[in-house]
Amino acid sequence: MIPILDLTVQYGALKAEIDAAVTGVFAGGHFINGPNVAALEEEIAAYVGTRFAVALNSGTDALHLALRALDVGPGDEVVTTPFSFVATTEAIGIVGATPVFADVDPSTYNLDPAKLSASIGPRTKAILPVHLYGAPSAMDEIEAVARRHGVAIVEDCAQAIGADFGGRRVGSFGAAGCFSFFPSKNLGAYGDGGMLTTDDEALARRVRALRAHGGRVKYHHEELGINSRLDEVQAAILRVKLPHLERWTAARRSVARAYGAALADLGAVQTPAHDPGGRHVYHQYTIALDERDRVQASLRAAGVQTMIYYPVPLHLQEVHRALGYAHGDFPNAERAAARVLSLPVYPELPAADVRRVARELHEVVAGAAVA
Ligand SMILES: *Cc1c(COP(=O)(O)O)cnc(C)c1O
Repeated sequence: MIPILDLTVQYGALKAEIDAAVTGVFAGGHFINGPNVAALEEEIAAYVGTRFAVALNSGTDALHLALRALDVGPGDEVVTTPFSFVATTEAIGIVGATPVFADVDPSTYNLDPAKLSASIGPRTKAILPVHLYGAPSAMDEIEAVARRHGVAIVEDCAQAIGADFGGRRVGSFGAAGCFSFFPSKNLGAYGDGGMLTTDDEALARRVRALRAHGGRVKYHHEELGINSRLDEVQAAILRVKLPHLERWTAARRSVARAYGAALADLGAVQTPAHDPGGRHVYHQYTIALDERDRVQASLRAAGVQTMIYYPVPLHLQEVHRALGYAHGDFPNAERAAARVLSLPVYPELPAADVRRVARELHEVVAGAAVA
């Protein structure tokens, strides 16, 4: 089976360095808020191009603490995409606000800026674009809409570390950028982890307090916070990995180029828009086609693992039933959910595997067309 992702190859290549970093933390006896977390915050801020970065327990916490720090709460609305992982809207719900959707662009699967304004109203506090699959959202137009309506931007960069729009890294456009170090992400820890980036010193200070039970001074608590710390072991591992991220991104992009060339003659297959307005980092290589489920089953039978991110758009999820959306409300998101299929992609994916996936896809799609 060609797996969609194989994390063991990367550990094999970095084993000596990672093992040394981890045992160094064990030997140092400093496990929370130590030197590795502080250094990683500086290194991520420098990489993204923001003044501050705050390490957290997960990308989900980065999203919901960004909203908390912007005073988004009950009665407020946050405009976002209906085509994302549930953590995007979960974060909005956790702070007591209401997600309001705007449809996606069918070529990038990201928020369509032309559809944004219609979803913005007097209660809107923020726009939450998601750089899905590692493709940058149209930040120039999204920024223009946000400015016109006087609302903040919070970027969901969980799938897009290193992506840029117009030469500027994602996570540096909004009031806050929210990153995930979930193991399968482009920069993955060996457990959960997240990071919030910002240029706003007051916002960074507020999130630092919120992640530590709402206090700036130990045992003095100004507001209700949570426990959302990144631990030293994960920070030490991420510091070993970060210097390799650009090389891994280049490798993902060359896998994507190889797929693009090998699938160009398959008219029935929509390949991803390459570099829409900036650098795509291919967290996923996601095609779209009719008869998707049949094609997926045939690929599985042929030894190729694929995944569907995501089969149900957020406005039709059970958890959001009370919002009152119905089938047909966001046709581009619904069509994407019915047609997308993510192929194997990771930096070390062998070129022979890319060729085999493309070959199997040709056979399966041709078969599906005549069936
Ligand atoms: C992974 C992911 C998150 C959540 O990150 P966690 O670290 O798993 O909490 C949020 N949004 C998107 C789009 C994601 O892919």
